[in-house]
Amino acid sequence: MPMLNMRYVLPDHIIDLNRIPELSHIQELEEWIVIGAMTRQREIERSEFLAQHCPIFRDALIQVGHQQTRNRGTIGGSLCHLDPAAELPAILSALDATVHITGPQGTRDLPIAEFPAFYMTPRIELNELVTGISFEPWPEGHKSAFVEFARRPGDFAIVGVAALLDINNDGTIKRAAIALAGIAAGPVRCGSAEQTLMGARISKETIRIAADTCREIDAMEDIHAPSSYRQHLAAELVSRAVHTAIDGPGAGSSK
Ligand SMILES: Cc1cc2nc3c(=O)[nH]c(=O)nc-3n(C[C@H](O)[C@H](O)[C@H](O)COP(=O)(O)OP(=O)(O)OC[C@H]3O[C@@H](n4cnc5c(N)ncnc54)[C@H](O)[C@@H]3O)c2cc1C
Repeated sequence: MPMLNMRYVLPDHIIDLNRIPELSHIQELEEWIVIGAMTRQREIERSEFLAQHCPIFRDALIQVGHQQTRNRGTIGGSLCHLDPAAELPAILSALDATVHITGPQGTRDLPIAEFPAFYMTPRIELNELVTGISFEPWPEGHKSAFVEFARRPGDFAIVGVAALLDINNDGTIKRAAIALAGIAAGPVRCGSAEQTLMGARISKETIRIAADTCREIDAMEDIHAPSSYRQHLAAELVSRAVHTAIDGPGAGSSK
């Protein structure tokens, strides 16, 4: 709808997916959580099941647009619209989600890392449909946070960070996933920060070193911000996201 509204696309036909109820669901299938492509963002935000097993969705969604846009916007629409700053693709990247696609040739699964083709263009054919996404939830008690910087509440972020952490009883980090939005055409996994965190004991120093690796990241620039500012935001927000995941909202903020 935004693309129509801004006259970026002038299609001859529009296919309405609203009347396919099978595309709208949040399900647990064995070890996996499956979310249908037409599931509304607001439904995901309010799902008690996801709040329990994957609270990062709720953390992020309250920062996505406005309640009115979340009432109508879908997870599949966000993924296929593929705005570089969108929150949901970044979360799905951190979760190593799989995208389920259907077309005349049958069905296929694509790892989220392979889903973006280029700027605002997913790797699906014109006659294909995303039917849903699935992912393995992180263990119970894992830590997570989504933090972002946007000029005004409800705006697309300049940079956003999804952070997931699994912490051992002895305070060392067993597993870390950090994904950035607003850096490139698709979500960017911050492998160097993840590697720095994994196996390390949590400390301000370790978090700072991990976050600072993002200053080297190859960041895009556009009318909103140069790449150097995005690199700076990436480092600051990764630090803030990891602190927030561990200590709660507001932790790690320098302001
Ligand atoms: C005022 C405003 C503020 C916003 N702020 C944010 C924000 O802060 N963060 C953010 O992430 N998003 C934001 N959005 C985007 C919004 O959250 C939706 O993701 C976006 O508008 C797509 O909406 P939709 O789900 O209705 O998809 P549509 O508009 O229906 O579809 C988007 C594109 O994906 C294709 N598509 C949709 N579903 C499928 C499918 N199942 N299979 C294949 N192709 C498909 C469509 O053909 C179209 O090209 C904002 C939107 C508005 C209008």
